Amino acid sequence: MTTITATLQQFKQHLADLARLSQAAALLNWDLETGMPRKGAAARAEALGLLSGEIFTRFVSPQTAEALAALTAPGVTLDATDAALVRVTRRDYDKSQAIPPALVREIATVAGQAQPAWEQARHDNTFAPFVPYLTRLLALKCEVADIVGHRGNRYDALLDDYEPGLTAAALIPLIADLRRELVPLVDAIIDRQQSQPAPAVPAVPVEAQRALALALLDLLHFDSDAGRLDASAHPFSITIAPGDHRVTTRFDVADFRSSFFSVLHECGHALYELGIPAALQLTPLADGASMAIHESQSRFWENVVGRSRPFLAFVLPLLQRHCPALAAWSADDLFRSANSVRRSLIRTEADEVTYNLHVMLRFELENELLGGRLAVTDLPAAWNDRCRALLGCTPASDREGVLQDVHWAHGSFGYFPSYMLGNLYAAQLTDALRRDLPDFDTLLARGDTQAPLAWLRDRVHRHGRMLEPHELMLRATGSAPDSRHFLAYLRSKFLGDARS
Ligand code: ZN
Repeated sequence: MTTITATLQQFKQHLADLARLSQAAALLNWDLETGMPRKGAAARAEALGLLSGEIFTRFVSPQTAEALAALTAPGVTLDATDAALVRVTRRDYDKSQAIPPALVREIATVAGQAQPAWEQARHDNTFAPFVPYLTRLLALKCEVADIVGHRGNRYDALLDDYEPGLTAAALIPLIADLRRELVPLVDAIIDRQQSQPAPAVPAVPVEAQRALALALLDLLHFDSDAGRLDASAHPFSITIAPGDHRVTTRFDVADFRSSFFSVLHECGHALYELGIPAALQLTPLADGASMAIHESQSRFWENVVGRSRPFLAFVLPLLQRHCPALAAWSADDLFRSANSVRRSLIRTEADEVTYNLHVMLRFELENELLGGRLAVTDLPAAWNDRCRALLGCTPASDREGVLQDVHWAHGSFGYFPSYMLGNLYAAQLTDALRRDLPDFDTLLARGDTQAPLAWLRDRVHRHGRMLEPHELMLRATGSAPDSRHFLAYLRSKFLGDARS
């Protein structure tokens, strides 16, 4: 065996061990969100802290550095998968080891205090007590951005954690284009829908909703031998290990749509990870290309498929079988109920038309905070101004405004654009998919999701993290990401305009 072959083998073994430690952390996290007794929280936090510290220390160890140095030495040639593995691991390593451990610990400590402070501030409906925590977290994240490095905009350094290679400068014109078209489009759609209000939603018992959720997972070809469904306060999807993919939902007796669409959404995330080939498992390549690409998969199944007229018409009898209270609903009732558009204050409750406006608001504020152009104390007023300009409504309180999201209390700045890009990418991927599957609507009308899933497996899932997100979109769709596919999708669906 040549030295390089042996080095590569040891390197993969080292990464596989790290992946197995991460499996333990993932399982502890899943349990924490789904079934752990409340009084176990303190002990669980300590166990997770120890485990994530151990994973971090092993990853930034000389063992990783020496292998990366040997595998990137002049004259070493690797096949495409191994070259991608080395490139992706090198980038993760360079970022991780640049940040001093003391800074990592301080961020974890302050975020640990900021989360309950945010919960309390939200409960009391007052921003002021949260200001010192947010100010400190922002300063620490600015420090991280400056250490990691950027070309003048700290936002780029943090955005890169979620969207490798993307910059605020590239996002700004994309957002401006989208905003210019979207604001009048919202008016036109709300206007159109006023004459066709959606029916009132009847109560549906939890057990009926659970049976429906399992039937939906089955319909989407979610492998029940490689995954499971549970309930949690906030729906999520997590891969524990190859062959073990878990999704959660939240059952609301008063509104079955909450769980119905959460299940489709989280299943989309799980299908992505289920589609990553065995050859990439237990390496850093066994993940999505970026948060936005991941989100494009969940939005595809939740919105493009799940809220489409043909799919909803197919699913109606299934829905009525599990939920007899919906017996009088027509396919049109279900479509209108799944697609009513309104100006709302809360991002997580927003429909697919107004959703991106909520993201733009957050992006603009984050970018200004990180650039030092906006003070934390001025945030509530700035939030309310943007909300009025973008969504045409003003929060009556901080709870409905600046305090609604947990992200900043975690120190997660730069995350929101991935949600918006996920919507744009889903529409762009769908246009490419329709070129290959012109009978897409007919398939959905028969509840046949096999061919669209196979298309996504081939164009997106099988690459794992091997391709950069921009490159993946270019190869999968034939063009660079833009907003026109998404806008054409909305016009076609909500105004009945012919597709371009
Ligand atoms: Zn998601």
